[in-house]
Parts: sequence; C-alpha cells; structure tokens
Amino acid sequence: MSTPDARIAVVTGAARGIGAAVARRLAADGFGVAVLDLDERGAGAVASEIGRAGGRAGAFGVDVTDEHAVEEVVERVADRLGPPSVLVNNAGITRDNLLFKLTVDEWDSVLDVHLRGAFLLSRAAQRHMTAAGWGRIVNISSTAALGNRGQANYSTAKAGLQGLTKTLAIELGRFGITVNAIAPGFIQTDMTRATAERLGISFEEFANAVVKKIPVGRAGDPEDIAHLASFLVSEGAGYISGQVVYAAGGPVD
Ligand code: NAP
Repeated sequence: MSTPDARIAVVTGAARGIGAAVARRLAADGFGVAVLDLDERGAGAVASEIGRAGGRAGAFGVDVTDEHAVEEVVERVADRLGPPSVLVNNAGITRDNLLFKLTVDEWDSVLDVHLRGAFLLSRAAQRHMTAAGWGRIVNISSTAALGNRGQANYSTAKAGLQGLTKTLAIELGRFGITVNAIAPGFIQTDMTRATAERLGISFEEFANAVVKKIPVGRAGDPEDIAHLASFLVSEGAGYISGQVVYAAGGPVD
C-alpha cells in the first residue's frame, strides 16, 4: 500500500534540539506534525513556528513514561490532526554517573524515558499504522549504545532501543510498517551543553576536543539527524527496515 493521503507524524521530545529539528523538517516535507513534549509551552512554540512557515502542527504536553497519558495523547492526535502514520521516538534524558555512584533513580529514570517511552508510543501508534497498512517508526539511539564511560544507564537504554527496533521491524513489516533507528554521534544541543557543564568546561572547549576525533571535522547539528529521519520515513525507504544508521561524521566502533 502507498502512503496515506493525510500524513501525520508524531515526534516526541520535540520542544527543542533534535526533536524540534525533526518536527520542522517533517512539516517542510508535507507532514502534519504532532509536537509532543513534557514542556507543553516549548512544544507550542515549535508548533507555532511550523504554522508561520506554512506547515501544519499541533502541540501536545505528555510524559512519555505515563502509560495512560500516552494512550490518551495518541488518540487526541488522531482526533485533532488525523491518525498518525509516522512516529519518531526522540524524547530523552541523561543522568550520567560512574557505576559506583549511579543511583537506582538515575538508572530507572533514563531507562523509563528512552525504553518504556518508545515502547508505549510505538504500541499506541501502531494501531493506526496497521489499520492504514502503512507506517514508519524511527527510534533515536546513540553511539553511546556501543559503550560510554559514565553512561551505564544511557548506553543500556540506547542499546535496548536497537533491540526494540529490530524486533518491531520483524513484527510490523507485514503491515507495511518499517522500523529503523538513528544513532547520532556528537550533536550540538542543550543535552551536550549540559554534559560540558557537568564536566566543568565550556561548551567550546568540550566541542573542540570531540571534533578532533570526528573524521568530517565538525560537530553535528540537529538538522543532520532531521535529514536522515526525513529519508527513513519517506515512501521510497520502504525496503529499509530493522536498521541502525550511525550518523556520527565517520565510522564508529
Ligand atoms: P534535548 O535538547 O535535551 O531534548 C530532549 C527533549 O526530550 C526535551 O525537550 C525534553 O523535555 C524531552 N523529554 C525528556 N523527558 C521527556 C518525557 N518523559 N516525556 C516527554 N518529553 C521528554 O536533547 P537532544 O540532544 O535533542 O536529544 C534528543 C534525542 O537524541 C535523545 O533521545 C538523545 O538521547 C538523543 N541523542 C542526542 C545526542 C546529542 O549529541 N545531542 C547524541 C545521540 C543521541 P524537557 O525540556 O521538558 O525536559
């Protein structure tokens, strides 16, 4: 089956950073976009900006870890904008600590937002996709899935998202739904700014040190990830599923 006429995309954690860039890009591609975030005002600002640029978007406040809120918000998106056929699971947090200092709360909160959140949104949204016989799910993983000092919780969650991606690709393929993951490297957002702050160095200092190891010689921008998301949710990408695409300015090991 081909793309449904009314193409509606849900993007989580879309009030800023990578999620906001993905929301803006999918709107420019012609999708009606549901901008989901904990921060409803921030989501509203992104939705208004999309509207001013000639696109169609709605803002929805939701905590992706809350089962009932997720079920309810996906139905509200379907009522207000139309049934979603694209889902980008992007909402994320970091709570970095070395293992011996890592608290159960830091472990649980990171796994909840990334993994439970992606599971809940995917379960709620696939209903509309299977009914339409067409869908695209993109999970935002990370190069940290391969291991990163001080991020046992985050790297476990991002590796878990890769397993979820492959399994959902196997389960949902027969319904015309593809499921892929993007694993970004260093992207300039509030999240990486917060990392620099935690390390007690300026963002410029932090970025310069990281960029030295990136083959293309620059830090990534949220738009780099939005470009890849735009491709993966496109009609022509229908034979690509269960893949993890690293977007890190070079190979990763
Ligand atoms: P960001 O600027 O911190 O944005 C994350 C967004 O997610 C925020 O708007 C945040 O809302 C929202 N969020 C957090 N918890 C939520 C929840 N429970 N329910 C709904 N929304 C929630 O981060 P980013 O750098 O754009 O990262 C986006 C994604 O890319 C994350 O999954 C991150 O792990 C991943 N990633 C980032 C990088 C990088 O270098 N930046 C690299 C690899 C992967 P609030 O503002 O209200 O907290």
